[in-house]
Amino acid sequence: MIERKSPREVAHMRSAGHILADVIDRLRERVKAGMTTLEIDEDIEHFIVKQKARPAFKGYRGFPATVCISINEEVVHGIPSPRRRLKEGDIVGFDLGCIVEGYYADCAFTMAIGDVPAPVQKLLDVTRESLELAIEECRPGRRLSDLGHAVQRHVEAHGLSVVRAFVGHGIGRRLHEEPQIPNFGDPGRGLQLAPGMVFALEPMVTMGSWEVRILDDGWTAVTEDGSLAAHFEHTVAITEDGPEVLTSRTGRVARVGA
Ligand code: MG
Repeated sequence: MIERKSPREVAHMRSAGHILADVIDRLRERVKAGMTTLEIDEDIEHFIVKQKARPAFKGYRGFPATVCISINEEVVHGIPSPRRRLKEGDIVGFDLGCIVEGYYADCAFTMAIGDVPAPVQKLLDVTRESLELAIEECRPGRRLSDLGHAVQRHVEAHGLSVVRAFVGHGIGRRLHEEPQIPNFGDPGRGLQLAPGMVFALEPMVTMGSWEVRILDDGWTAVTEDGSLAAHFEHTVAITEDGPEVLTSRTGRVARVGA
């Protein structure tokens, strides 16, 4: 069953999403080499609670922190630690959610610490662009597989790989709702999109093979071949007029090439 949200429900998710948009701005401004991933996590938890929202990941299936922080070959679900210090040249993925009035929003982005080589910057740019292209497909009448197809086509055109083991998802009163949204596949298949559906779209892209494995901590997913990985995510509502990005204060993200 794919739930369609009422305007009141979408409004709560927008409130949650706008808090996350502010978190993204805060991270982009403040995160520097030398910080530990735990101190970043604690700052963001404090920030979210101050906005009268609740972190969505802390305690979710036993996850111990507010933000998943995944460095370099870590794809997703890295656990913040006082022993993990960011260095120049790292790429760092932040993934987090929050809850307002019982409704969730979920987002992620990956940033470079200082300067990175051009191919690494390209990994970040192409992953973000692939998300933007998928968001563009979030319109009434499109099919669910059009979203993943848009991601895969863009990523593979740049010689990069789409992770298969993790997918985007419906979101609402629960963090993960139906449908699952793979980031690959043929277009024109599956569910027809309709106003009121809300999806968390989250392409994960690597510079090498798409295979991943889970570390002994039971959470951290790393690339099997040790190649670098990037992850971007937005929570998107489908409206009569097209996509509304709930995790952006403007409701939009920049279009590729715009
Ligand atoms: Mg998600």
